[in-house]
Amino acid sequence: MEILKGKVVLITGGSRGIGAGMVRKMAEQGANVAFTYRSSSAKSEDLIEELKPMGVEIKAYQSDASNYEEAESLVKKVIEDFGTVNVLVNNAGITRDNLMLRMSEEQWDEVMQNNLKSVFNLTKQVLRPMMRNREGSIINISSVVGVMGNAGQANYAASKAGMIGFTKSIAKELGSRNIRCNAIAPGFIETEMTDELGNKDQYLANIPLKRFGTVDEIADATVFLASDMSGYITGQVISICGGMNS
Ligand code: NAP
Repeated sequence: MEILKGKVVLITGGSRGIGAGMVRKMAEQGANVAFTYRSSSAKSEDLIEELKPMGVEIKAYQSDASNYEEAESLVKKVIEDFGTVNVLVNNAGITRDNLMLRMSEEQWDEVMQNNLKSVFNLTKQVLRPMMRNREGSIINISSVVGVMGNAGQANYAASKAGMIGFTKSIAKELGSRNIRCNAIAPGFIETEMTDELGNKDQYLANIPLKRFGTVDEIADATVFLASDMSGYITGQVISICGGMNS
C-alpha cells in the first residue's frame, strides 16, 4: 500500500543526508516530491535519476531556505509545477560549533538564519495552499540537542529548541484548519554532519541502544507524520535518539 499516494511533499535540504533519505521513502510511498538544495546540484540530479523507476514526480530546486524572497518564489514555482503542497518538511540545517567564549556573532547568526528563520520562511508560504486544501502536515526536523542542550553547540541547540516552540505554536494556531505541525528530534544519525564529530565513543556511551541511528529510521517517522495515519497527532516532539534523552 502506498500511504502517501497523491500527496505533494516539499522537503528542504533533500540533496543528501537525512533529507535525501526522506525523498526516497516519500517517493516509495507514492508521494510526488519537490526538494531543495543549496549547492549540491549533481547529487540532486543523481537522486532524481535513481528514483525515476518509482514513477512519481520528483523535482529539485536550488533555493536558500534562509532567504525569505527565495522561499516565496520557491513555493510559487512548486505550486505551478505540482498544483499544491500537502506536506512541508523543514529539514535544511547547518552546524557552526564552538564554545561560547569563542563563538563569533557570525556563527550565531548563520545558524539562526539557516535553522530557524528558514522554518518561518517556508511555513509562511505553505499555509495558504494548505488552508485551501483544508489539510496539511508540517514536520520540523529539530534535534535531541534542542531538548537537552550540548556544550559547544549553544547556537545550534537554541535554533533547534526554537523550532520546538514554533511547532507547538503553529499546532495551536492552525489545528482548527486541520493543519498539523510536529517536530522530530533525532539523536546522532550517521550522515556527513556527524562524520565531522570527534570522540564518537564518548557519545555512544550515553546512548542506551549503543549505536548511532540511520537516515532511514528518521525518514520512516517522517513518512508516518506526513500520512493520514498520524491524523490525530499535532504539536508533538518525537525523539528518535536511541533512548539518549531517557
Ligand atoms: P547534511 O548531511 O549536512 O545535509 C544538509 C542538507 O541541508 C543538504 O541537502 C544541504 O544542501 C541542505 N541545506 C543546508 N542549508 C540549506 C539552506 N539554507 N537552504 C537549502 N538547503 C540547505 O545534514 P543532515 O545530517 O542530513 O541533517 C538534516 C537535518 O537534521 C538538519 O536540520 C540537522 O540539524 C538535523 N539533525 C541531524 C542530526 C544528525 O545526526 N545528522 C541529528 C539531529 C538533527 P547542500 O547539499 O546543497 O549543501
